[in-house]
Amino acid sequence: MIIAIDGPAGAGKSTVAKKLAQKMGFLYIDTGAMYRAVTLKALENKADFKDEKAIVEIARAAKIDLKSLKNGSEENVFLDGRDVTEDIRHPRITKYVSDVAKIPDVREAMLRLQRALGGSRDSVMEGRDIGTVVFPNADKKFFLDATGEERTKRRFKELKLKGQDVTEKDIECDIKNRDKIDSTRTCAPLRRAEDAIYIDTTNMGIEEVVDTLYKYVENTKS
Ligand code: C5P
Repeated sequence: MIIAIDGPAGAGKSTVAKKLAQKMGFLYIDTGAMYRAVTLKALENKADFKDEKAIVEIARAAKIDLKSLKNGSEENVFLDGRDVTEDIRHPRITKYVSDVAKIPDVREAMLRLQRALGGSRDSVMEGRDIGTVVFPNADKKFFLDATGEERTKRRFKELKLKGQDVTEKDIECDIKNRDKIDSTRTCAPLRRAEDAIYIDTTNMGIEEVVDTLYKYVENTKS
């Protein structure tokens, strides 16, 4: 079974997807982590982000592994054998990741990896194009959303807890910028699949969102 969770930055997808995967005993797959790993490799190779060919080569050569720990509730990200779980969350990665992810051949390389992983086990996969492109026949599709203000607030809190030196204004700009690039790109833009269940999480707590999704999934099974 594949459960697809899509939505804009800061809508709570990762937290919800992790918890849902844990509750169901499914594999948790964070596809944003893959684009982040390619971006990290490009930065380390001092690649020119305007040179699409160079970025595609980097994406094709990158060996990206997602290893689920603790019952699928956590996931470590490996790039060429090195654990980059923390590094890919750095603001400098966030700054460039949407420009990397809009390149069609980069997406093609990630798509293969995503389909192979999702095809290997029952999974909860989260991203921007899971229900529309990666697994259009997913058993259940969700689109999580929240107001821009709420998404900024949540992301700010999350990064502050991680000790990152950011302001709310930085986060607001980052979210607006990424949403714009992600939803206007020609290849696999961020959008809700027609058959995805839309959930506005603005006034919901995490557990409430997880329970809502869980109930929908359980209803599908019976
Ligand atoms: O989910 P996260 O914020 O880590 O994703 C980082 C970026 O990766 C997104 O802003 C988007 O540009 C890209 N992405 C994507 N397609 C996905 C998942 C992430 O384009 N399925």
